[in-house]
Amino acid sequence: MGLIIRSSAIHAAGCYTTTPIRKGARVTEYTGHRLTKAEADTAYEESPITYLFGLGDGSIVIDGHATAMFINHSCDANCETSEENSRVWIKAIRNIAAGEEITYDYCLYDGGDDEARCNCGAKECRGTMYSPEEVRRRKAAEKKALIKKKGKRKAGKGARTAKA
Ligand SMILES: [Zn+2]
Repeated sequence: MGLIIRSSAIHAAGCYTTTPIRKGARVTEYTGHRLTKAEADTAYEESPITYLFGLGDGSIVIDGHATAMFINHSCDANCETSEENSRVWIKAIRNIAAGEEITYDYCLYDGGDDEARCNCGAKECRGTMYSPEEVRRRKAAEKKALIKKKGKRKAGKGARTAKA
């Protein structure tokens, strides 16, 4: 299998295959240092770009380096990630032709204020790289924030009324 890194229409650099890949094949491993979630949060507090991959329940993350960190997100990906014995493999979910860009669905979570906008160009693009569950969670949190703000404003008004 030949993987190369070159510029991508989706984002900056991407990972491409020079040979056809069969559905089900392991394309590459997501390698990198293992950090605890807390260590990663501290190390990358100020970085807009990270290559962190959460393992299992998310308490351990892989700080990606080498080939896999260049693989871009797509909402209509040709690969998926598969965790086997604490190792993460990028696996083909359909046959991939030589020259195609390798992609998987990042299913991001825990992104703070970052919108994580998606540029994959797929017909069914979600518009964000967050997982569908995370999109629901963030929408619910947004609503909560709105309710909180409204509540505050009301309290403020009340206080002013009391003063007058
Ligand atoms: Zn997309």
